[in-house]
Amino acid sequence: MMKNPAQVLQKPKEGSEKKYDEDYIKYGFSWCGDETAPRPQCIICGDQLSNESMVPSKLKRHLYSSHPSCANKDKQYFKRCLEQNKKQKKFMKLAVTVSEKALEASYHVAKLIARQKKPQTVGETLIKAACMEIVRLMLGPNEVKEVNKVSLSADTVKRRIHDMSSDILGTLIKKLLSAEKFALQINETTDIKNKAQLIAIVRFVEETLLKNIIYFVRRFQSELPVKKFFE
Ligand SMILES: [Zn+2]
Repeated sequence: MMKNPAQVLQKPKEGSEKKYDEDYIKYGFSWCGDETAPRPQCIICGDQLSNESMVPSKLKRHLYSSHPSCANKDKQYFKRCLEQNKKQKKFMKLAVTVSEKALEASYHVAKLIARQKKPQTVGETLIKAACMEIVRLMLGPNEVKEVNKVSLSADTVKRRIHDMSSDILGTLIKKLLSAEKFALQINETTDIKNKAQLIAIVRFVEETLLKNIIYFVRRFQSELPVKKFFE
């Protein structure tokens, strides 16, 4: 009987998945992925094979063709390699998560500084110094070292704020383009120091909701009306 394409593409029946045998380590293989359908993973090169390849003949073939110099090694050798790999992975993971978290924290603090309209220098001179003091007293010296990895120099804060604002602008432009129609309103005003300001507001429909968003605010170092700049 002909099988229809949907039947052909069906996953192997539950229960027919091959299991990992502790003995396969002698072929240089450990396993990864789902416990119910584990995939063989080569301890030497890290290659992952399919669940169907979880049979001695296929594992052996990979070992002999890809790593002939390891073909005669014993179980102990592969066990040591596996331990080594695990240690390395753990170390790498730790290093990556700490630096990723430090980067994320740096962006969050930059956002706070921008929202509060504080000078970019407070990142290093006040916020980081205060955080380190709090962490030193409440947690300990090792945690202080972690907090110290968060870069909050004035230059970094400036760069982060710039990154975030260009990201917001990019997102807004994409929304305007996909909305197809939008209204642009330009307002001329002055700030509390009587400096000229130009504000652009866009209005558009996003998923049936009407949005009013400030497109940009341009401040001028002059008390002249903004229109003078366009004459
Ligand atoms: Zn391999």
